[in-house]
Amino acid sequence: MRSFICLLVLSSLLSNSVSADSINYAPLNQTATNQTALKQAAHQKSTSSNDSVTPPLQSNHWYQQGEAWLKNKVTTLESLSSPLQQKEQGAKNIILFLGDGMSITTLTAARIWQGQQQGQSGEENFLHFEHFPHTALIKTYNTNQQTPDSAGTMSAIMTGVKTRAGLISMGPEQDRTDCQGSSQHHQQTLLEWGHQQGINTGVVTTARLTHATPAATYAHSPERSWEGDYDRHPNAYWYGCDSIAKQLVKTAFPAGLDLALGGGRSKLESYYDTFNQQFPNGSLLTNKQALSDWNQALLASRFSHQKEAKTGPVLGVFSPGHMDFEMDRRAAQPSLKQMTEQAINYFQARTGRYVLVIESARIDHAHHNGNAARALAETAMLSSTVQVADDMTDDEDTLIIVTADHSHTFLMAGYPKRGNPILGVSKNQKNEVVLANDGMPYTSLGYANGKEYGRKKSAEEFLHSEDKNFLQEAGIALAVETHGSDDVALHAKGPGSYLFSGLMEQNEIFHTIQQALLTNGLNDLDSLNDLDGSSDLTAGKDQ
Ligand SMILES: [Zn+2]
Repeated sequence: MRSFICLLVLSSLLSNSVSADSINYAPLNQTATNQTALKQAAHQKSTSSNDSVTPPLQSNHWYQQGEAWLKNKVTTLESLSSPLQQKEQGAKNIILFLGDGMSITTLTAARIWQGQQQGQSGEENFLHFEHFPHTALIKTYNTNQQTPDSAGTMSAIMTGVKTRAGLISMGPEQDRTDCQGSSQHHQQTLLEWGHQQGINTGVVTTARLTHATPAATYAHSPERSWEGDYDRHPNAYWYGCDSIAKQLVKTAFPAGLDLALGGGRSKLESYYDTFNQQFPNGSLLTNKQALSDWNQALLASRFSHQKEAKTGPVLGVFSPGHMDFEMDRRAAQPSLKQMTEQAINYFQARTGRYVLVIESARIDHAHHNGNAARALAETAMLSSTVQVADDMTDDEDTLIIVTADHSHTFLMAGYPKRGNPILGVSKNQKNEVVLANDGMPYTSLGYANGKEYGRKKSAEEFLHSEDKNFLQEAGIALAVETHGSDDVALHAKGPGSYLFSGLMEQNEIFHTIQQALLTNGLNDLDSLNDLDGSSDLTAGKDQ
């Protein structure tokens, strides 16, 4: 049917000699004949009018931009190690960034927000990691939920096993909140596996360190909310399920976890003494100044080869609960960027490889509140944090991945003019405020559900839509805006990143990271063999 419509359109454009009626009722073989005739006619037309065809507008900005992009893309891809080389060399280090709830719409709006903060129109901007050469789409569902939560999704990324919502690094056979016999369903995490391989490991977050996403890197629990000792169900006491806080200090650090920076003093404070007793050479850091001083001592020891700095495990807890949103951050709290920079300094001061997981946690919280401004500012901070990590590391040996655990119902729509303030009301080409059917303005950004349901705002309130406390409208009334079920993006660069492409299941991220690490380790084994000459097949050629 579509080909008939195309034919009709084409025929009316090219010639009146074939009537619409004759095409409509033509048998198939005649249609083929007509197609041939039309192609010939089109060819003749294009040949005969060749002289009058306007040449490509090579002076046009977008034409030149497209050409420059192509040239740059070819140069970039040619300069990268080939997939075969990447496969052979593997990754020495891994830095995995998680934007909690960082949906694709969040990326679009945040890149515009960041660009507009820099005085640009915004749409043309890229977040730092959006320049990475490899991308994939990630399916996020849990084994028991179409729309996932952070516990199940992060467990899939950390253990390679897709699982149920609410579980912290446990297999999908485990029932939520059922402690009895749950230890048999523990799934080893990437960080735990890393300790066993002699790889340094760490986690950085702007949430409580005991919150679902960071917890899934080092703990195992049938219930994500069992964060502190007093948060547990009686069932957990009876059958011996430790709180996530206790597992961090009494299990994960002794087993080999090297660094944890984030919030959550209310859950962790009762274990500070235990941490200090266990690790006399460790560092317990409780504010931004302490983090900064520790880092200075570390850098001094690194460059002067002194051994004064404490290089044991590091526990940094910088707020009672979650850390502040970037837009409200108090002076005593470090930014995500500062924590990341100092974590990388720490690992680079030590010998050996590292796996570092970094979560920008509060994109999710801002979205749940229906508050786009803070979600975008958090995402922009994640972008500059990735940039710092990228600048500090070598593309040849460090695999950097940026992804999200799940989406949100965040949306961006209407027909606002180019450069319209991303948090503003929709304005048309004449810079006039566009009114909805009820005569009221509306913003480009909104949510499919949440607490700002209905057209409750006055025209006056819409004038302040760019205020950081403005709450965008929601289509369905719910107490709290929910996660979305759609895919999220993954951006990657460095050895092993070529495997991230197409549409992937979320648990496949774990297997791809592990393969990149394992390959590097196997190469190390080969070079050890080479040292004793047992497998040195190329020695003759070198001489
Ligand atoms: Zn959430």
